[in-house]
Amino acid sequence: MQITNNLTSWLEDSKESDFPIQNIPFGIASTKDTAARPFSRIGDHGIDLAAMADHGFFDNLEIDDLNVFYQDTLNDFISLGKPTTNKVRERIAELFSKDNIELNDNVEAKKAIIFSVDELIMAMPVHVGDYTDFYSSIEHATNVGMMFRDPDKALLPNWKHIPVGYHGRSSSIVISGTPIHRPYGQTKKNDEELPSYGASRLVDFELEMGFVLGKQTQLGEQIPIDNAEDHIFGLVIFNDLSARDIQKWEYVPLGPFLGKSFGSVISPWIVTMEALSQFKVKGPVQEPKVLPYLEHDGKHNLDVELEVHINTGKSMNKVCHSNMKYLYWSMAQQLTHHAVNGCNMNVGDMCASGTISGPTEDSYGSMLELAWKGTKPLKMQDGSERTFIQDNDTVIMKAYAQNDEVRIGFGDVSCKILAAK
Ligand code: CA
Repeated sequence: MQITNNLTSWLEDSKESDFPIQNIPFGIASTKDTAARPFSRIGDHGIDLAAMADHGFFDNLEIDDLNVFYQDTLNDFISLGKPTTNKVRERIAELFSKDNIELNDNVEAKKAIIFSVDELIMAMPVHVGDYTDFYSSIEHATNVGMMFRDPDKALLPNWKHIPVGYHGRSSSIVISGTPIHRPYGQTKKNDEELPSYGASRLVDFELEMGFVLGKQTQLGEQIPIDNAEDHIFGLVIFNDLSARDIQKWEYVPLGPFLGKSFGSVISPWIVTMEALSQFKVKGPVQEPKVLPYLEHDGKHNLDVELEVHINTGKSMNKVCHSNMKYLYWSMAQQLTHHAVNGCNMNVGDMCASGTISGPTEDSYGSMLELAWKGTKPLKMQDGSERTFIQDNDTVIMKAYAQNDEVRIGFGDVSCKILAAK
């Protein structure tokens, strides 16, 4: 059944939620009685997909191996391919839609399948084999170039021709709620001649969106721009924690090594490309024209509102409001460029967008930019100030797409920064 905007659910009125019946995201959760397994979510209810499979609700979807619903990652499920995973989304929406009684009349099945989200312990939704971080926001790249390089030549000559990225560290990607200790490393202050060892003083967040790959490609295979989006299963919010002082000493303008790999945090629910399709918009005009292999017409950016909040323990402070639509390079262009040399992709691989800064000072996606390298401290509601993240601050990022008819959200990604161990 088609998931239309006027669909409602018998489960709950979730119109105001990030997770209406139009969303049907996928995640991995355990409960106090069950091991980690695939879940979806409507409103404040978790939906146990293994229990749905147990009760035969997926029997007519022509899925050869129902074991995908009993794994502790979604990799095998995603590997079924979009035609099948979309059928699963639609089947869930059908079963939970207002007038459907297949599940609603089955008290025993409802008890097994439906949980309160408060009962769910969310886990990493996929095993991330490889992780790549792009640098796709022109506002962010310009800001950082101005601060650390030459204000007149903030962008390197390649920036408008290549979606710049680096190969990151997948082992340190963790689920929302995981606290991260301030990292140790080598830093050098401007007025010191030699580097010293110690805890980073300049821990920062980077507001990014990550996309999860849904198709395997072979070494040597490219991904043409016209079907690049078919290779993307869905998206999560991605907080690319960054130790600015470690980064700055590692490489100019900012290193992608130990200043990054002490923790990156993602939101637990993968929102599918299909759920977001009505929020596609055109990206910024690309001038100069990109090379033909990166050219695409039409709508390839997503209008997703992004917020960052800092909970100091004494006050909650919204410090940034940005939007994914500002990205100069689309996800399709990032992925096509990533594979242009024949680099192979695996299901579950993750690509992050790079910090998504907007054009205004309140839309910058990192403390580095918001407090402009420490020169413009942000005032918190409790009277304290921040130039970077302090111990025991919790960084919370939210993302949602909204129009007059429907809201499709991601929930949030939350991370508390603890003192160095
Ligand atoms: Ca980044």
